[in-house]
Amino acid sequence: MTTAYQGLLHRYRDRLPVVDGMRIITLCEGNTPLIPLLNIPRELGKDVTMYVKFEGLNPTGSFKDRGMTMAVTQAVHEGSRAIICASTGNTSASAAAYAARAGIRSFVLIPEGKIAMGKLAQAMMHGAIVIQIQGNFDDGMRLVKEVATKAPVTIVNSINPYRIQGQKTASFEIVEALGRAPDYHCIPVGNAGNITAHWLGYRECANGGALPVMAGYQAAGAAPFISGQMVDQPETVATAIRIGHPQSWDAAWDASRASNGWFAAHDDATILATQKLLASKEGIFCEPASAISVAGAIADIRSGRSRAGSTIVCTVTGHGLKDPDTAIASNTAPVLKVPAALDDVRRASVEPL
Ligand SMILES: *Cc1c(COP(=O)(O)O)cnc(C)c1O
Repeated sequence: MTTAYQGLLHRYRDRLPVVDGMRIITLCEGNTPLIPLLNIPRELGKDVTMYVKFEGLNPTGSFKDRGMTMAVTQAVHEGSRAIICASTGNTSASAAAYAARAGIRSFVLIPEGKIAMGKLAQAMMHGAIVIQIQGNFDDGMRLVKEVATKAPVTIVNSINPYRIQGQKTASFEIVEALGRAPDYHCIPVGNAGNITAHWLGYRECANGGALPVMAGYQAAGAAPFISGQMVDQPETVATAIRIGHPQSWDAAWDASRASNGWFAAHDDATILATQKLLASKEGIFCEPASAISVAGAIADIRSGRSRAGSTIVCTVTGHGLKDPDTAIASNTAPVLKVPAALDDVRRASVEPL
């Protein structure tokens, strides 16, 4: 028997809706590193311990794989031959990959022009049928629900409860790594499935121990949890959280209230500056939406909302390589161009030091 890591459904079989005889569809997702931040906390000059749970290191580059292995395994178990989702990009990349693995079809609805190139490339490469709609994620979600009542396809958005089940395992891994839950868990919020899943996971593995305060962060232009009402025209550079009508509205409010948590918004400039900070100070390259958990954590540490002496975990949801266009566009440092000659290269590289 192999001792190699075989993915979430094997690892947490007894805590997931995995039944005997299921064909497990896995890409060995999960088991992502909990990386301590070194330079950012030091420069903040506050007594806190910060970690990043780098979910960008999942097989398709985002946490969506945790939910997708469970949802696609269940869909195949029920005899489904096709899956469908609306997506800002990462759900479609993940759905396409797991459908390919399972040998079934995938249909993905994406907002025209508002999807990062890496994510589109993934959906295409994995053989999804890509349907670009002239609308946003929320329009896509509405259409997917309607289509699923008329055609034999399984929805694999996070309204599918098996997605939430798979995603809760990130909390299990954090508690195993720290030996307890963190004091604060900071997380980007779009459709709000992931904050819901993390809260479920913490409650299931707490064993009577303390639970974290859940802090959810939204982009200022797509912040229904901060305004308290749905947003019809969400807008932000962080396309993965460009959602105005979150599907897990009630569950996310429950997580926030029951944990004595809060929601806060941060603007696009702060999101991009934090993305750059993580990359340039810590060596962690994430996509814009992911950086908002660290932006939020930093703001709350500075303001004293997060207690001194506390341990803070930030979910970094997706990899920076998903969206190279935004990364390059937001960098001002020039790329030096010189002739391919020793003197020129030496002058450009060594002399400035
Ligand atoms: C899906 C996604 C989110 C938002 O997660 P929700 O569960 O929709 O709140 C945040 N960041 C990235 C990179 C994502 O792919």
